[in-house]
Amino acid sequence: MKVFISVDMEGISGIVDGTMVGRTQGDYEKGRSLMAQDVNAAIDGILSVGPAEITVCDAHGGMNNILPEAIRREAVLVRGRPKPQSQMAGIDPSYDACVFIGYHAKKGTRDGMLSHTYSGGSIESLHINGVEVGETAMNAGIAGYHGVPLVFVSGDVAVTREALEVNGDIEVVAVKEAISRVAAKCIHPEVAREMIMEGVARAIRKHATIAPHRVTLPVTFDIRFTDAKRADAAAFIPSAERLDGKAIRISHGDYVKVYHGFLAAVACATAFS
Ligand SMILES: [Zn+2]
Repeated sequence: MKVFISVDMEGISGIVDGTMVGRTQGDYEKGRSLMAQDVNAAIDGILSVGPAEITVCDAHGGMNNILPEAIRREAVLVRGRPKPQSQMAGIDPSYDACVFIGYHAKKGTRDGMLSHTYSGGSIESLHINGVEVGETAMNAGIAGYHGVPLVFVSGDVAVTREALEVNGDIEVVAVKEAISRVAAKCIHPEVAREMIMEGVARAIRKHATIAPHRVTLPVTFDIRFTDAKRADAAAFIPSAERLDGKAIRISHGDYVKVYHGFLAAVACATAFS
């Protein structure tokens, strides 16, 4: 059994605002500790089913949030950036299942805890093949490209709803319920970790019954930026088609190539912000 875990930070139990997810913020050390403990709960859930090879990809910000010795020694940690496949770096067709921990809803979701789509400052929305998506569907598409099913998602109530829209067979655990974008009712982290451990175990047991999220090819990413200058910069990418003042389109027959085009577009947009 090989399991890939992508871990973001905004949907970690107990985290409600920027004070725990930004490196320069006062409670960041607490945030990264909570992050590692939610991941460890997922690892425990996998290992409760049977022996497994586990890869954990740090998928938030600088992608070096989890301290190397903070996670279970049974897992290999992928950290640092930039890297191919970004939040999904390390996944390949040899994996049997994929798990998302600490995920959040797409930008603008009314009850989405710290909601955004990849880059809060640069991206207004992302449509894949005409459907607006968040990071859950976008990254499930990377797993699906490799034939690996996304089987479990944890985060706030809104992201669990978004995950079930990607695939209703996925197991989900909501560790908090938003009251606003930066306030939530939080389940105690110890209880949340038990829920993650049990939910991941349920998902691993039934992983063979969950279909990989295969995106129809050729695939189109319509990327809407928060202002025209960012779209001006992103449009420097040779394959980009300008849609209007704030949006570009990237299309290709290979999902990972479009995903990398998206990463390049975000890098250009952010560099010129
Ligand atoms: Zn994040």
